[in-house]
Amino acid sequence: MSAEDDGEAIWIGVTRKSAGAECPGCGRWSNRIHGSYLRFPADLPSAGRRVVLRLQVRRFTCTDTSCRRQTFVE
Ligand SMILES: [Zn+2]
Repeated sequence: MSAEDDGEAIWIGVTRKSAGAECPGCGRWSNRIHGSYLRFPADLPSAGRRVVLRLQVRRFTCTDTSCRRQTFVE
C-alpha cells in the first residue's frame, strides 16, 4: 500500500502482490495477466481532505482452453 498527498487529495494505492489468481470458473491457477485497470471504489472525505482509494485490478487469462470463462478478474 502506498499513499500520496497531492495537496488536494490523499491517494492511497492498493496493489495485490500475488503473482496469480484462481479462476472462478474451473479453479485453475493462472498467472497469465491479460491486463489491468484502476478502480476507485471509494472517495472518502476526511477532515476536509479527500481520501481516494486507487485499487489496481488485474485481469487474468485462464490457462485451461476448455474453460468457458477465458478471462477473469482477480
Ligand atoms: Zn478457468
